[in-house]
Amino acid sequence: MKLIIFGPPGAGKGTYANFLQERMGIQKISTGDLLRKEVKEGTQIGKKAKEYMDKGQLVPDELVIEVLKKELERIGKDNFILDGFPRTVSQAQKLDEMTKIDGLILIRIPEEILVEKLAGRRICSNPNCAAIYNVASIDKKIGRVHYYLPPMPPKKEGVCDKCGSPLIQRDDDKPEVIKERLKVYKKDSRPLLSYYRGKIPFIIIVPNRPPEEVIDRLIKKLEKLKEKS
Ligand code: AMP
Repeated sequence: MKLIIFGPPGAGKGTYANFLQERMGIQKISTGDLLRKEVKEGTQIGKKAKEYMDKGQLVPDELVIEVLKKELERIGKDNFILDGFPRTVSQAQKLDEMTKIDGLILIRIPEEILVEKLAGRRICSNPNCAAIYNVASIDKKIGRVHYYLPPMPPKKEGVCDKCGSPLIQRDDDKPEVIKERLKVYKKDSRPLLSYYRGKIPFIIIVPNRPPEEVIDRLIKKLEKLKEKS
């Protein structure tokens, strides 16, 4: 299946995509992870991308599409979940030229929760692992929904369970940059929902419980979608 996972920064796109990769064997493609890898390796693309990423702004399309195409060639084009791409209508149009997407998973979550989750996020410093953890502890009601999101810490503080590398906070998970990223999301990325509505099926999730609980509902919905297609 070819899927997009969509939602504001901090919604949990990467976490859910990791679960789907493990549970359904759908390969995750995160343009953010791919760009962070380029930055860490000090490539030309990485040097250019860093200027935008550090400010919470979008990296120019041509750079993002170059890393995406490279990855699609590496992993094959039939079974993937795009995390963090497309982020603009022009990227969506380019994606349409490359392939046909089967569905969009939309993560709905209030901004108040996002800010706390982003501040608590820790990632593995090894770009080939990029595991995600969270030290925030959220237990509050917003409107009619009760958000109960306990921390997702590693077994040993500051160390990745999967590969043993040190955990770090992303440079762009600092409060000033978070604000800019949310602004960019509203202005450039949210219009994508109108672009895709009616074109491809939407699968909506409300992540008000730990991902281990929400993921089963999501997998059921995806299996139904798979049967239909
Ligand atoms: P993410 O890990 O998805 O939150 O992405 C981190 C940063 O990488 C973003 O704030 C952007 O600066 C950049 N980035 C990732 N994906 C894209 C994209 N599709 N278009 C433009 N910039 C991107």
